[in-house]
Amino acid sequence: MTISNRTKAFLYQAMQVAELSGHNFRHGAVAVKNGNVLNRGVNRYKMSPHVAPARNSIHAEISTLLPIDDRRGVVVYVARIDMHGVATNSKPCDRCLRTMGTWGVKKVFYTLSPTSFGEIKIGL
Ligand SMILES: [Zn+2]
Repeated sequence: MTISNRTKAFLYQAMQVAELSGHNFRHGAVAVKNGNVLNRGVNRYKMSPHVAPARNSIHAEISTLLPIDDRRGVVVYVARIDMHGVATNSKPCDRCLRTMGTWGVKKVFYTLSPTSFGEIKIGL
């Protein structure tokens, strides 16, 4: 798909944020509303001794959106980079998409490779 340079710039920002994630699969996300960055985040672990590691990770989209009070109309940019720092498929999972739907998030752009990207329209 063809996307604007503006959208690409936010996706590159998400890739840079992903560098900060401590996971093997590093995801970064940027939440934008009316052109303003509201928050940036990475996938991370919940610090609970009661939950198995595979079940206690918070996906980057969610950890980025959680601190935002009004998530309606927000556009989320998600990137995933592999161990070499190369962007790869970061399509949001169904659970994140459902959660973002209930929050009124507008749409998500995500990386597929360093040069190709996807888009999912969620809300209005
Ligand atoms: Zn997810």
